Amino acid sequence: MALLIKGGEIVTGSSRYVADIWCEGETITQIGSDLTPPDGAEVIDARGKFIFPGFIDPHTHIYLPFMGTFAKDNYTTGTQAAIVGGTTTIFDMCIPSRAEEPLAGFHTWQAQAEGRACCDYSFHMGVTKFDENSEAQLREIVAAGVQSFKVFLAYKGAFGIEDPELWNALALARDLGVITTAHCENETLVAELQKKLVAEGKTGPEWHHDSRPPRIEAEGVHHLTTFAEAVGAPVYIVHLSCAEALEEAIRARLRGVRVRVETLIQYLVLDKSYAELPDFEGAKYVMSPPLRDRSNQDVLWNALRQGIVDTVGTDHAPFDFLSQKPMGRDDFTKIPNGIPSLEDRIALLYTHGVVTERLDLQTFVNIASTNAAKIFNLFPRKGTIQPGSDADLVVFDPDFSGTLSVKTQTSAVDYNAFEGWPIRGRAEVVTLRGEVAARDGRFVGTPGRGQFLRRPTP
Ligand SMILES: [Zn+2]
Repeated sequence: MALLIKGGEIVTGSSRYVADIWCEGETITQIGSDLTPPDGAEVIDARGKFIFPGFIDPHTHIYLPFMGTFAKDNYTTGTQAAIVGGTTTIFDMCIPSRAEEPLAGFHTWQAQAEGRACCDYSFHMGVTKFDENSEAQLREIVAAGVQSFKVFLAYKGAFGIEDPELWNALALARDLGVITTAHCENETLVAELQKKLVAEGKTGPEWHHDSRPPRIEAEGVHHLTTFAEAVGAPVYIVHLSCAEALEEAIRARLRGVRVRVETLIQYLVLDKSYAELPDFEGAKYVMSPPLRDRSNQDVLWNALRQGIVDTVGTDHAPFDFLSQKPMGRDDFTKIPNGIPSLEDRIALLYTHGVVTERLDLQTFVNIASTNAAKIFNLFPRKGTIQPGSDADLVVFDPDFSGTLSVKTQTSAVDYNAFEGWPIRGRAEVVTLRGEVAARDGRFVGTPGRGQFLRRPTP
């Protein structure tokens, strides 16, 4: 495979210039002006377009057994949706149940991905219990190239761990040089508030928010960062949704705790009024932590601009509106959680971040690609455009105008949370390791070509 992308404006997390990019095999081999392709090379005219490094979603659930059902995408549909939207690498959450051994879970997720994945992938390894046996297996999984853990302070009994396990997981992570990602909500408080609301007859999706208010998320962040501080381990807070939780993360940073923060595109563009839509439509917008009051959006945008929040992910967890969300029709606590966004993350972030001038282009690239590559040990193989890096490139048309819809999406779920929303700009051509994998919103790559990314020890 030889590929020449001519005349585009290259935008990385630290630079911006017009040049040609020459890719041979799976990597970028040369960047320069007026490069001449040999016969047979594929040439893409990118004049007037931006060239971004392939985007990275640090948080997805492609294969996900959850609340008695399975998320709707599989590794084929989910990763094709990613590629179409410009995302060339995902970090999928490998989450065995507490009854399962870590290695068995790891092998299950690998088997789901292998031969199906259409973008590159890594895992965050769920530590859903901690004993001698699981410790040995976790060491093996880290040695296999999975350099990050995931813990849940919520979902006690399913994936959530007890405090002694949290201590031990963080200590192992510190010793192995692994960063621990964490879902931060106080599960006891969530469970008690859920019981209280349901007993009061407050059973609709509009009550989901009040069962997990901002303070409960902030308590989770405080709890995690206190443990991280005592153990001396680095942590990464997933899906931070509100000002209260962010303040706890900032306080921890000021104390010297090594804490990174991820927010989600959903929290930046949606608010809790969506979960209050009538006729159960609010169920489309149930996820945890919940969509927040609109006032939090400016806080999160500002924090991204100032480098206080590091990454924007999706927590992509697609459940059908017609057949799966209704599991919780009479009880919001039983609604499968998730607002699918993997395919639309970049278009939404560009439209609502760059076009509105909340973000400059460099910040946009950093929060959607480069920072995740650096935090999770893939840089500079991923997350930038330079000779030697994988040829994961997004030729982005800033002048494109379109509309998001379930009718045109690639993801297998039966609704689009942003139905009818206008977007500006889109990934016109997406390459994965030198192969054109998407063009004009359609997957055109080789199914199953996505690779497991073995991450080196830092
Ligand atoms: Zn998640």
